[in-house]
Amino acid sequence: MRCIALTLLAAVMISGCIAEQASFPSELEPTNYTIENITFNKTHALMFDNFRWNHMPVTIYMYTQNATDRDIEAFREGMKIWKDQTDGLVAFKEVDSPQVADITVRWTKEVPVVGEEAVELGTSMPKVIDTGLFNLSVGCEVTIVTKTSFSTSCPQLVAAHELGHALGLDHPNTTNPAVRYYDIMYPQLHCLQRVTPDILDTLKELYRMQPAPDLTFMNVTSTKRNVHLDIKMVVMNRGLLDSNATELQIKARSNVIGTFDLPVIEPGSQLTITGKITVLSDITELELVIDPGRKNTDMYPNNNVMLLRTVW
Ligand SMILES: [Zn+2]
Repeated sequence: MRCIALTLLAAVMISGCIAEQASFPSELEPTNYTIENITFNKTHALMFDNFRWNHMPVTIYMYTQNATDRDIEAFREGMKIWKDQTDGLVAFKEVDSPQVADITVRWTKEVPVVGEEAVELGTSMPKVIDTGLFNLSVGCEVTIVTKTSFSTSCPQLVAAHELGHALGLDHPNTTNPAVRYYDIMYPQLHCLQRVTPDILDTLKELYRMQPAPDLTFMNVTSTKRNVHLDIKMVVMNRGLLDSNATELQIKARSNVIGTFDLPVIEPGSQLTITGKITVLSDITELELVIDPGRKNTDMYPNNNVMLLRTVW
């Protein structure tokens, strides 16, 4: 009699426990999800890591008000130096409207003095978006100084140096004087300077990948209470190009249980999606898929899929 009573009591406790648990929320958390990173082998100093443009040629508009014909010609020669000495890996092209230009160039007679014995011959101000994978160059303002106490027989190298900054290159940090002296990015002008093998190797590395978007889950939180799932997903484009509009699917046991529209996402931008979905109460695993129809050539398609599992 005592035995039966105990068994009955245990049964009541177990069923009570199950009923209670079903009403508690459970969290589903990402499993084995990695966000990719790229490391480039650089042999030349860069102003920003993983710096690059997402297209070639890079377009240039010249505000020529303060420039002589020789100044303009020298700048065009500076553009050509990059194309010729990189075999077209990087190239610049003149356009006739600032609205469609990546780089604008101005000439000025003001001489910003940088040191007692040096005068500045030009400046370059790159604009950069950190996409997560890259520092994507989205513009640059170049200024060339026209009147200085220093006149040179190689003004095209001043232009080429500033365009090197527009390509993200910094002044060389090598201590080898033979290399520094001939480096187009060396901050003191010398008419034998050129695109060195170090620069070329670094540019080959930075431009080895085809430009593409890279849609990636940045953060996902999800809570399930019985058959109700609340989910919040942050999707970022960490690549180089705008993504195409597409969709995000949520699957349970290979069945699509939710679909969300993903609009165009620009490089470095992210989108937060929240949703409420009805699921089977015993679901413990969900699969989230960005762009299941592959409307984008994603840089890292592996990180377009995320598994969520219940955390007990
Ligand atoms: Zn410089």
